[in-house]
Amino acid sequence: MDLSKKIREIEDFPKPGIGFKDITTLLKDGEAFKYTVDCISENLRRHNVDIIVGPEARGFILGTPVAYNLGVGFVPIRKPGKLPGKVESYEYSLEYGTDVLEIHEDAITKGMRVAIVDDLLATGGTVAAATKLIEKLGGEVVSIEFLIELDFLDGRKKLDGYNVNTLVHYS
Ligand code: AMP
Repeated sequence: MDLSKKIREIEDFPKPGIGFKDITTLLKDGEAFKYTVDCISENLRRHNVDIIVGPEARGFILGTPVAYNLGVGFVPIRKPGKLPGKVESYEYSLEYGTDVLEIHEDAITKGMRVAIVDDLLATGGTVAAATKLIEKLGGEVVSIEFLIELDFLDGRKKLDGYNVNTLVHYS
């Protein structure tokens, strides 16, 4: 299935010059959603993962059904102040300023084989921060799965050394 046909592009959102890849059109299409989740799950089967990690918010939408498919658990990575338990935090740079991501400190245990699932690889800042949090807790990031990758932003450079898979590329 050509998933690129299911993704809607909205120009100048959330600000001028950004071509937003809207996956709500894919998610509401049952066949396309199932195909997406099944492809990501298949990519991960050979990695013997113990747990799936998904960054807020679209990483939750794709990560949880993949975890269910594989019969493993799901761990959310969230913006500050959202997780109720004790957290590990990581601050990372954006184009302007910084951002922080958090994970429950007991969510990953030493030696766990972890896969990260997210909707889109842009600059790579978010998922690079996720790898740092997972590794701080002693987890091993065995694979990183995206639905979409914006090749022209070269986000892969930030994920050098990791196994990265993407279903739909934009160049
Ligand atoms: P980044 O940290 O730059 O790799 O991007 C982080 C997140 O921002 C992605 O997982 C997306 O949810 C969102 N994002 C960035 N650029 C776009 C875009 N052009 N269209 C849709 N979502 C985007």
